[in-house]
Amino acid sequence: MEIQFKYLNITFKGVAKSQQDVFRKVAFWSSLPTKCTACNSTNVRPDHRTPKDYEFYSIRCCDCGAECKIGERKDNKGMFFREDEKFEKFSGDGEKRTSEGNQERSAPEEEDDDF
Ligand SMILES: [Zn+2]
Repeated sequence: MEIQFKYLNITFKGVAKSQQDVFRKVAFWSSLPTKCTACNSTNVRPDHRTPKDYEFYSIRCCDCGAECKIGERKDNKGMFFREDEKFEKFSGDGEKRTSEGNQERSAPEEEDDDF
């Protein structure tokens, strides 16, 4: 059956193989954030980058630049989103930025290998 779903200002059309498939697809798009958890802006959009040949999918905030990562299933069967995923600022290669943002993690990580 044909399904249509709207996320932000984008309309997706697709075909669902079963009722379970409708739920899977609609549940995924419904779970995606429509608001940045870092600055509360609703000016967000899907983003895709390929740093170091690594596929990086996220919802990006157009106001503060923070991103909310979207996971990809290892079996290549699609994507998933964790509802507790927060918007964070990443550097161009997909690594978390340590110089800015991340106020929540203010404690410095110390390495005590030569203890
Ligand atoms: Zn933001």
